Amino acid sequence: MAAASTKGGLAHRNKPAPKKAESRSLKRKRGQEDLNKLREAVNKLDPKSPDIKKFTDLPLCEATASGLRASHFEVLTDVQRAAIPLALKGKDILGAAKTGSGKTLAFLVPVLEKLYLAQWTEYDGLGALIISPTRELAVQIFEVLRKVGRNHYFSAGLVIGGKSLKEEAERLGRMNILVCTPGRMLQHLDQTAGFDVNNLQILVLDEADRIMDMGFQSAVDALVEHLPKTRQTLLFSATQSKRVSDLARLSLKDPEYVSVHESAQTATPASLQQSYIVTPLSEKLDTLWGFLRANLKSKIIVFLSSGKQVRFVYESFKRMQPGIPLLHLHGRQKQVARMEITSRFASAKHSCLFATDVVARGVDFPAVDWVIQVDCPEDADTYIHRVGRTARYESKGRAVLFLEPSEEEGFLKRLEHKRVPIQKVNVREKKKKSIKNELQSHCFQSPDLKYLGQKAFISYTRSIYLQKDKEVFKFNELDLDGFAESLGLPGTPQIKFQKGEDIKRIKNAPRAAISSGSDTDSDGDGRKRKDKDQVRTKYQKMAERQNQDVLSTHYRKLLGEDGPASDDEADFLSVKRVLDGDAQLDAAAGGDKRANDTTTTEQPKVVKLGKSELVIDSHRREKLLKSKKKLAKYMEKGNKLVFDDDGNAHPIYELQDEEDFAQEGPADKLRRQFVEAETEKVKEADVEDKQLAKQRRKEKRERQKARERGEEVERHGGALPQLEVDGGAGGEDPLALLRSLPIAGGEADSDGEEEEAREPPKKKARKWFQDDSEKEEEERREKKKKKGGKRVIEMAHEPDNLEDLEALAAGLLEE
Ligand code: ADP
Ligand code: MG
Repeated sequence: MAAASTKGGLAHRNKPAPKKAESRSLKRKRGQEDLNKLREAVNKLDPKSPDIKKFTDLPLCEATASGLRASHFEVLTDVQRAAIPLALKGKDILGAAKTGSGKTLAFLVPVLEKLYLAQWTEYDGLGALIISPTRELAVQIFEVLRKVGRNHYFSAGLVIGGKSLKEEAERLGRMNILVCTPGRMLQHLDQTAGFDVNNLQILVLDEADRIMDMGFQSAVDALVEHLPKTRQTLLFSATQSKRVSDLARLSLKDPEYVSVHESAQTATPASLQQSYIVTPLSEKLDTLWGFLRANLKSKIIVFLSSGKQVRFVYESFKRMQPGIPLLHLHGRQKQVARMEITSRFASAKHSCLFATDVVARGVDFPAVDWVIQVDCPEDADTYIHRVGRTARYESKGRAVLFLEPSEEEGFLKRLEHKRVPIQKVNVREKKKKSIKNELQSHCFQSPDLKYLGQKAFISYTRSIYLQKDKEVFKFNELDLDGFAESLGLPGTPQIKFQKGEDIKRIKNAPRAAISSGSDTDSDGDGRKRKDKDQVRTKYQKMAERQNQDVLSTHYRKLLGEDGPASDDEADFLSVKRVLDGDAQLDAAAGGDKRANDTTTTEQPKVVKLGKSELVIDSHRREKLLKSKKKLAKYMEKGNKLVFDDDGNAHPIYELQDEEDFAQEGPADKLRRQFVEAETEKVKEADVEDKQLAKQRRKEKRERQKARERGEEVERHGGALPQLEVDGGAGGEDPLALLRSLPIAGGEADSDGEEEEAREPPKKKARKWFQDDSEKEEEERREKKKKKGGKRVIEMAHEPDNLEDLEALAAGLLEE
């Protein structure tokens, strides 16, 4: 079924087959009896009963029970056991349970039962409304609903936008259950005539704290205004807020607070292994690259702070071919692309998805091995949701957070406060590789990539600048030059921030239906709506063009303050173009200033270009000022001269006198002589080149042999008894965790997925992390080696780097 459509239908009501009236009434009677029995069972149900362990222990109708059976759901999870019985009894619920613990069924089962017990039909209209903060999550909830509700006769729809309002509206009136995002739903409630929600029985907010958050505030309040007050309300999240104001906003009645993991030691799943790496901003991409290269056989989600960051890292890494299929996802992509990428990643075995927080919450990708947070999340709750994309239900998962040195102390405090267990690890020195030069050359070759890099730079620095938590995010301590360089940019973009904005408000701003200016792409509901009827002016189109914010602040002025936001940056910062010192651009800079003035004065301006002058009397001319290349056309051009050995000047191309030329001999002969002379030169050069190439090949062979010798020792070394890992007195291996961390997948080719060209994959899997004690050990050995003291074979652990191997080899030889 088309995902963004509102066409649902858990099943279609079959036309009753012509049967005898007698048997029909008998059936109806039996049905009524069953229904009464079920109602009675629900009334009698003790929600705290310890006997409720499976779905079959609950008083559910046959349609729901068989749907659950067919989907292979049998045993209840903790949150399901605690929440479903209370919800069946009609209670309002505030449910909190860890990520991946089965909250979706905890609200879907009561939704189906509620409507079933009320014998809901298509004539009763909308009975249940389920709200999700993002489109991706809404689609997923809808899919689960279709699965477990397959034997019900309700019609269900998905309202998430991406299609025309009219198309959606037509089907809306017929739906019994809707899964929606807040902005789009509100649009329908405001604009779709005849859409009646007065009958609503049950309202569900998944990721409730997020929906009640600032960004959605006005939409949710307006939406709730439309709904009847007498209804059941269920709120679920892994990070639930109990704010009284929120409860009041939703008019909850004596809600039951279901928090199954409140007393748990950790706020994250027990099967999740979490670590962090301190890495300066300027080395983040190197570290990420190193990680990917070491984990080619994995399924990885990499979180970045903005869509711009996501695009840049995706585009640049793609060019460098890491050897693992790459995908990217952010809120500015077209709906169809978003759906396709989500499903491709869901079914991928090995893949790396670069994403914004659009998939930070609720999304249930199967079998994710790693969650990497390259950019620090805005708060500990976001951290908990992001890492929750792995280790779902009963599976294992690992998560790594990259922290800037300035963020380390502050953010660790936040995590500790939220009961998040996390351990520090270091990147192995050997695994570090700078990709700065490669990025630089890619940016040089592709202006598009460079512009993306500039935008990524701006959006990152802006997000840090606007972060609320100043104890964690310290803008002034960032090495911006180093960061720009690490992205491969030719210079540091100059940025100017406007105060008074709030990153959370910007990031969480819903779709343009609610507020048009300040949405960003980091959220599912944050995409701009393009109204078809609206006529756009030439300047608006210009402003929407790629890169315009990097090149010019001028168009923005032409648009005025309220013009359609050309780009999310446009509202709170501007980029000044960095000018070189040469005369043309000085003129351009002067012209720029004056060009801006033309919006207020009528006088045409004159710009000096070297010796000549250029009259700025049209927008086209103004535009010229932005381009050094175009301006060059208007410069008075001098003649380039070359000097001979005697110091006399000649123009570059000098025509020989015809008579002189004829005296030198026939043209044919001259040409032959020239060709012969050149051929001789090429031959000489060729011999040199061949020698050099031969020499290089020889060196390479020798290097390879040396490496192979090293690996030979490593292989044997691993089997030697004296090298066995010391299990420690307590029997617990303190390094076990680290050892089990990233298992490098570089050992084999990548199944032909993406051919790796630059570095042949290492034969032996190497660890990518090391802990502090390992690092010290390494340094100590290094020092000893330098001093030239007597060597001792000292191996506390398996040899896993070159130093170890060298020490081992030398030691064995001496014995
Ligand atoms: P949450 O919303 O708490 O993050 P989900 O509802 O997305 O978690 O469920 C996480 C995973 O657990 C899903 O893949 C789901 O199919 C599975 N799951 C949920 N309930 C059960 C159950 N009772 N038995 C087996 N698997 C379940
Ligand atoms: Mg969920």
